[in-house]
Amino acid sequence: MSEQADLIIVGAGLFGLTIAQQAVERNGARVEIIEARGNIGGNAYSYFDEQTGAEIHKYGAHLFHTSNPRVWKYVNRFTSFTHYVHHVYTTHHGEVFPMPINLGTINQFFHANYSPEEAKRLIAEQAGELAGSTPNNLNDQGISLIGRPLYEAFIKHYTAKQWQMDPSTLPASIIRRLPVRFNYNNRYFKDTWEGLPVDGYTAWFERMIDDPRIHVTLSTDFFDTSQPLNRDALVGKVPIVYTGPVDKYFNYELGDLQWKTVDFKEKRYDEDDHLGCPVMNFADEDVPYTRAIEFKNFNPERYDQQNHEHTVVWEEYSRSASRNDEPYYPVSTAADKQLYAQYKTKIAAEPQVIFGGRLGTYAYYDMHQVIDKALDSFENEVQPLLKNLKN
Ligand code: FAD
Ligand code: UDP
Repeated sequence: MSEQADLIIVGAGLFGLTIAQQAVERNGARVEIIEARGNIGGNAYSYFDEQTGAEIHKYGAHLFHTSNPRVWKYVNRFTSFTHYVHHVYTTHHGEVFPMPINLGTINQFFHANYSPEEAKRLIAEQAGELAGSTPNNLNDQGISLIGRPLYEAFIKHYTAKQWQMDPSTLPASIIRRLPVRFNYNNRYFKDTWEGLPVDGYTAWFERMIDDPRIHVTLSTDFFDTSQPLNRDALVGKVPIVYTGPVDKYFNYELGDLQWKTVDFKEKRYDEDDHLGCPVMNFADEDVPYTRAIEFKNFNPERYDQQNHEHTVVWEEYSRSASRNDEPYYPVSTAADKQLYAQYKTKIAAEPQVIFGGRLGTYAYYDMHQVIDKALDSFENEVQPLLKNLKN
């Protein structure tokens, strides 16, 4: 296949799948996708659990959300979405609170009945210790957003567990992902659209590449020179979109970029509902995992297809990733950013290779952002390389 392919894509995650779909639809290209894992979908891949009927998100819970009309229109070509609206709870000192921090959390925490204005004044007072300074790490950003007491209860230890680092050494941007609200709105996301693919993530992804001009080779590593679709054989001969880790592509020549990975511990219970919600965070240090996911609860609309005598829950344990682990969260300290900038100069010199996606650009992107970046990258970087193809 590689001799006939007009475009090689390394990685069948959302970045790679979007590029493949566009290359076929807009340029009539013949595309070869090389994927190291045994399945498409990258980290958003899911499968159905036989015992419970739950859709298990194999690499961690994935909730689709976006405010980007172009992306929303695009994804709806391949799947419809359920009406699922994401809500999260967190356990702190034996009590359950709504997340993200909202007026309900604040009033429960302070045993009060503050109005929005009163709560804003209280938080401004509690955040006052950092007034006038620009927070340049997660610790200071957290205190500025919600004041020290709430920060220490809900953010400090959870963050330390998730990132396995002191929050004062982490970038402030991580915590800006989470809204803080002075009303009782406890929707986790603030986006215009959200939901879950009605017949699962994998069915959505299969539809994106349902075209005879797209060929997928699974369980094949681009760096394995014992198989024909490898870097040494292909670079410079055919346009390539690479969505794997950027440092790995260059054999870690300049050093390793830091990632966090997650280990999942599966627990099965002979109950219909163990947590009472899809996601329960654990804010305190004494619980070693960050959160627990009960997959069945993401899809209440599948009630009739689910088993109500058993349920499956995954606990998430975060740790630093070594080269052989799945890289999940880019740590992005100042030193990482500098190292990535150095890799970018090497990327620029790589003939006909476009680096994309969360791993290829060392970026903490959600699915909708990856699709948006892929649509842009197709137009600006990939299509010019395919320009001689007939439509
Ligand atoms: P990936 O999905 O990582 O795909 C890259 C693919 O490249 C992988 O399949 C990998 O096997 C393959 N690959 C790498 N190297 C090679 C190689 N050498 N040869 C062949 N193949 C290779 N986003 C949301 O919008 N909502 C969420 O709720 C959400 N939750 C998340 C939870 C977790 C735990 C994680 C880790 C991510 C979450 N995300 C979420 C982010 C989402 O997973 C990403 O935005 C998206 O999957 C990135 O797509 P991608 O194509 O860039 O990368
Ligand atoms: N966070 C926290 N407590 C929580 C939930 C989130 O401190 O109960 C912080 C933590 O630092 C995390 C960041 O907020 O990394 C972003 O949370 P989000 O849920 O967006 O992270 P992800 O879905 O990527 O795991």
